[in-house]
Amino acid sequence: MLWRADDIPRNKFHLNNEVFLKRILISGIAHAFSNLPVSSRHMKITATTILLSASDLSTHMSCKHATFLNLQLARKIIPSPPVYDNPSLVALQQRGEEFEKDYIKQLKESGRTVAEISRGDTKEAVAQTLEAMKQGFDIIYQARLEQDIWNGWADFLIKVEKPGKFRNWSYEVMDTKLSKETRAGAILQISLYSEMLAQLQGCMPEYMHIKNPAGEHHYRIDDFAAHYRLMKKNLLQTIDQPRETYPDPVPHCDICKWWPVCNKRRREDDHLSFIAGMGNMQIKEVKKWGVTTLELMADLTLPLAHKPGKGNAQTFEKLSHQARLQHQWRKINRPVFEILPLQEDLGFYKLPEPSDHDIFFDFEGDPYVGDTGIEYLFGWYYRDEYYDLWAHNDVEELQALEKFMDTVMDIWKQDEKMHIYHFGAYEQSALKDWSANMQQEKKNLTAC
Ligand code: SF4
Repeated sequence: MLWRADDIPRNKFHLNNEVFLKRILISGIAHAFSNLPVSSRHMKITATTILLSASDLSTHMSCKHATFLNLQLARKIIPSPPVYDNPSLVALQQRGEEFEKDYIKQLKESGRTVAEISRGDTKEAVAQTLEAMKQGFDIIYQARLEQDIWNGWADFLIKVEKPGKFRNWSYEVMDTKLSKETRAGAILQISLYSEMLAQLQGCMPEYMHIKNPAGEHHYRIDDFAAHYRLMKKNLLQTIDQPRETYPDPVPHCDICKWWPVCNKRRREDDHLSFIAGMGNMQIKEVKKWGVTTLELMADLTLPLAHKPGKGNAQTFEKLSHQARLQHQWRKINRPVFEILPLQEDLGFYKLPEPSDHDIFFDFEGDPYVGDTGIEYLFGWYYRDEYYDLWAHNDVEELQALEKFMDTVMDIWKQDEKMHIYHFGAYEQSALKDWSANMQQEKKNLTAC
């Protein structure tokens, strides 16, 4: 069966909050946001030059159109985007700030000397950073770094024994991130901080570091230097010779302040990405046929007159059918769906034979509890009855998991052909991860 027209997300790259939050936990796309106001993190124009930040560099890597818009904003050609009221992002930002504060607390408790740089005047902050380096503090928190047109606030400078211009010590950069996987943008940011730091202390640090909930991660600067230089050159060229770009959706849209602006433009243009199931590869292909909007895709003559260069004709015919449903919905302002003719080995035919012992299961979770979040509700429907298990902490979560798995095994023994039906891939992978980690978790929790 085709997707129902009213199931179509407003933008398939723009995830709903639940999926967005789960993604944070599974793949770690989230990162700790700086607690500086957004306006102070992006490019600025002075009377003589453009000032660039580490965020400009990582943003450019994620989306060239964001650079184009930021540049236009800095030049006052366009207004600031409307406030993007996304509670997930606000919660994520707060979580990042808490994580950073918690880490600085740990550093202080470890007995190391810590200098905290005040965030008022940036020139004063640079002077304070330099003074703290000269005095040899073990940790410098919120270090202000500036070099030519570049600037930024490194979360931490960590003292190391390598001699620098002050005496027999120097510093390396450490940033805190919520993501369990280090993103390329984070590496670019700490590479830039390290380069600016080198100028201040008279020697290039050897390593740069990321602290995330999974621990500290260390990266050799030289290993990333070529990529960093390339990205920096790329951004500078774009600033120097800006070219009009189009807001083709990218994963960064999920956390981008320009989303309302870009989404409005895509809506006005009837962008092909609004067709459910249409990916970048298919968009590229149909554009070669002169199909540039959802409406044109809906009007395609079937069977296709074109042999696709990539992908098979059937895929494009399905997408055209999908576009037609969505277009029709738009015209009559009512959700539209069609039941496809039954076809063996397709759709519902692919479902296994039902069993009296089938289970319908879902989790509810909060990713902002503790370091890794919590699945606070395990709910399932079995033989016309609903069951639930609630967890308020790690111990209860583990107990709920064990109880759920015991229940599943008991039911499975009654009918090995039973299935568990669940909302998405998340439930399956989370259960597998948990089962794999259960022994370790048990050890940790017992030790607490
Ligand atoms: S919303 Fe998406 S397309 Fe627009 S600037 Fe941001 S990342 Fe780029």
